Amino acid sequence: MALLKSKIVVVPLGEVDFMMVNKLAADLGPVFNRSIDILKGMKMPVEAHNVVRNQYYCLVILSKLERLKANSRERVFAVCEEDLYLPEENNVLGYADVLSGTGIVSLYEIRQEFYGLPEDDSKIYPRLFKEAVHQIAHLFDISDCRNPRCVNYYSQMMLDIDNKTERFCDICKRQLTGMV
Ligand SMILES: [Zn+2]
Repeated sequence: MALLKSKIVVVPLGEVDFMMVNKLAADLGPVFNRSIDILKGMKMPVEAHNVVRNQYYCLVILSKLERLKANSRERVFAVCEEDLYLPEENNVLGYADVLSGTGIVSLYEIRQEFYGLPEDDSKIYPRLFKEAVHQIAHLFDISDCRNPRCVNYYSQMMLDIDNKTERFCDICKRQLTGMV
């Protein structure tokens, strides 16, 4: 019997544009060639909020996401607007934990306002899409790619994200086809 492919569950977390998350969920399906569920939404867990930093701790959020899993093979991915952090990093654009199969991306740094620039809607969705694909690839145990054109390229700066394409390179593509 063929092994059923694991699902990706997309979670709009907190006050986030549901239409945008919905579009992302629809676009992710063909990229990873698997079915996508989209949840109605989840509140941002208050215990993730660090009052001193006025930021949200990624790992607390991921542990909440893990509880949403219907089975161990599901991958759960959240999209939020809040400013995220890890103890060793000031800001976190996106993060994925392969062991728990959970990941997150925040629009906080993706928005132009973060850089003191006027808002540019045409930039937001492509950045969100590329970062989501990059993080979800980690959930399938595919590590960062060194090809700056590949969507799975580790992007340190927003410019790197803007410059990379929305597609996997041949090497990443090959790795993805073997995943269940
Ligand atoms: Zn690649």
